[in-house]
Amino acid sequence: MEKVLIAGAGFMGSGIAQVSAQAGYQVYLMDIQTKITERALREIRWSVEKLEAKGLLREPSQKVIARISPVKDLSSASEVDWVIEAALEEEDLKRRIFQELDRISRPETPLATNTSSIPITRLAENLRRPQRVLGLHFFGPVPLMRLVEVVKGEKTSSEVFERGVAFVQSLGKTPVRVQRDIPGFVMNRIFSAAFREAVDLVDQGIVRAEDVDVGMRLGYGWNAGPFEIADNAGLDTFVRVAQTMKTLGAGHLAPSSKLVEQMVVEGRLGRKAGKGFYRYSPEGKRLPWESK
Ligand code: NAD
Repeated sequence: MEKVLIAGAGFMGSGIAQVSAQAGYQVYLMDIQTKITERALREIRWSVEKLEAKGLLREPSQKVIARISPVKDLSSASEVDWVIEAALEEEDLKRRIFQELDRISRPETPLATNTSSIPITRLAENLRRPQRVLGLHFFGPVPLMRLVEVVKGEKTSSEVFERGVAFVQSLGKTPVRVQRDIPGFVMNRIFSAAFREAVDLVDQGIVRAEDVDVGMRLGYGWNAGPFEIADNAGLDTFVRVAQTMKTLGAGHLAPSSKLVEQMVVEGRLGRKAGKGFYRYSPEGKRLPWESK
């Protein structure tokens, strides 16, 4: 059984752990605190049991869960076939993780990052083997979203890039090849352009967030509107991505108003905080912001 180490057990890391276990990989799921990996395992259990109840799981949910082992550090990198980093969107933090992975993992193990905006090339800088670093940019919620961008850094070898494509397919996902390492890759650049305009229109009082979402669903056939997507992803992550984009000279893709930054300061982080552009009931039902 091939093994995968996932560094970071938040929204994305836990989803990547789940789909990897469902695909038959043995998974080590690492975070900085035991309570975070415990929470991730609870959420994964809830999700696979739901899939099982709907008849969408090929095997008993217990078998899937049993393939995931929570771990406290990166030492299992020395025995795995894949590493996927899904820690906070902070360049220094990710660089430290990659330095350690480069040191302790087997030389042939590909090291992937799920970053939304930090160039792969920068994360691979000063490593002994930058040719094995690539981007695997999953979309959230990972168990539901079928797309993964496979991103080639300046030094990523073609062999590792193609292994990334095959790995994504082995998870039952569809890869899109991004041949050059540009800020925000492809899908985030396109989404950011739409989100920037949507935020500015709402901030000017021209339209309500929920009406934009209805409009994009009905007018353009989106499955979810930009504000629903942003609330699900977490507005703190959006602010970090926007900051990185600005630093990298792609600031024109970030919202020009300070609305989202202000919401983060107020704790309106999106679904995970129970409030963002929408409110969420204790059962997770999305309600308009103005509702009581
Ligand atoms: P999150 O805040 O839910 O999870 C991040 C996790 O990283 C936290 O549990 C945190 O404890 C952990 N962490 C912090 N320091 C760590 C360390 N040294 N080692 C291991 N883990 C550490 O964030 P998220 O939404 O899961 O985002 C994770 C990554 O995925 C980010 O790079 C983000 O840009 C990217 N991403 C997010 C989305 C999205 O929709 N949220 C989509 C695509 C990519």
